[in-house]
Amino acid sequence: MEEANASKHIAVLAFPFGTHAAPLLNIILQLSDACPDTVFSFLGTRQSNSLTFPKKLYKVKPFNVWDGLPEGYMLKDDPSEPVEYFLKAVPENFTEALDEVVAETGKSIDCLITDAIYAFGADVADELNVPWVAIWTGGSRALFVHVEIDFIREYVGINGTGPQDKSLKFFPDFSPIRAADLPGGITTGDFNAAMPVMLHKMGLELSRATAIAVNSYEELDSKVVNMLKQRFDMYLSIGPINLVSADDSHGCLDWLSEHDWETVVYISFGTAITPPPHELQALCEALEESGFPFLWSFRGNPEKQLPSGFLKRTRSKGKIVPWAPQPEILEHPSVGVFVSHGGWNSVLESIVGGVPMILRPFFGDQGLNTRTVEAVWGFGLGLEGGTLTKVGAMKALEFTFCSEQGKK
Ligand code: UDP
Repeated sequence: MEEANASKHIAVLAFPFGTHAAPLLNIILQLSDACPDTVFSFLGTRQSNSLTFPKKLYKVKPFNVWDGLPEGYMLKDDPSEPVEYFLKAVPENFTEALDEVVAETGKSIDCLITDAIYAFGADVADELNVPWVAIWTGGSRALFVHVEIDFIREYVGINGTGPQDKSLKFFPDFSPIRAADLPGGITTGDFNAAMPVMLHKMGLELSRATAIAVNSYEELDSKVVNMLKQRFDMYLSIGPINLVSADDSHGCLDWLSEHDWETVVYISFGTAITPPPHELQALCEALEESGFPFLWSFRGNPEKQLPSGFLKRTRSKGKIVPWAPQPEILEHPSVGVFVSHGGWNSVLESIVGGVPMILRPFFGDQGLNTRTVEAVWGFGLGLEGGTLTKVGAMKALEFTFCSEQGKK
């Protein structure tokens, strides 16, 4: 179909960090299948688009926006720095790119879909005189705490003025959640950093969205969903929106098939995190001593970052790969537990695969997800002390594989 003849043109503004753009693109691809007369323009950074877009050509067209990085910027150890730069460049980088998108397609924009964290979506859509649809790629509970941020700050206190073990029991189904489980920037941390500021604004602006869609399903958190439905006119649970990643170039699924049912430990800390060296060491020691077979999707260089001799000693028990087809792995019957950072996509994929989790959260919604998996939904464990130690990891593995409660 020629773009100029298309009946509608929808522009999509993606957040190009972590696993935000991939599930957003997945839903846009599904929408595009459902609306063959509509043109979709998908705006992200060059790097994010190149990682996210499948090789096959789809009807959704990628457009690159400026990433905000200074000339010659070299990536440092701190992964939050490029995010800060990018958030300084919004919304102007998007609004400039939208003009180019309209010029190139010859079609004005009829609807704006954005990652929900873009609070400025409300103003940009008003400027274009079109509806704004906000898509939250996390869970309802994480969205809810951002919407209720001012109330929570008042009730809990900020920057340690209130006890961090204080329960959020004033919200239905939140009694096991403590202030300490909340994402940074709500009651502790740097409230003026770009991300907390953006998320705070999001909580205030979301009521201006024509619809809010969330990567979750209602039954998972029905009381929380009900509170959000009371607050917003159109609140839609459209998940799980997972990417089916067909890339099994390292033969993970065949390797899993050589193992008995529910015996393998699958390990991944998502697309952005590698635990610090002492925690990697502790996990390796726990794996070696407990002897469970393991499949590890490892960000980084295992030869350099894992303890000396570990790869050789565990060759018959373990497989370490740079990328694994995680959704399919979690649906494989040989996988018995998932050691994870508690990223939302990983939690959903574990639910879909019916795999219990052992969680070591790092930042953002991961602490809240961990506590919810452990104490509300009951299909996983946070680690003692919140970090990976040899004793804590062994206890969690043995509990999951060997105890009646763990098996249940
Ligand atoms: N993932 C994958 N293979 C890997 C590592 C990660 O397919 O080897 C996918 C995983 O299935 C999930 C996403 O990457 O969909 C990670 O998202 P999550 O929200 O859990 O964590 P983030 O990357 O945002 O920290």
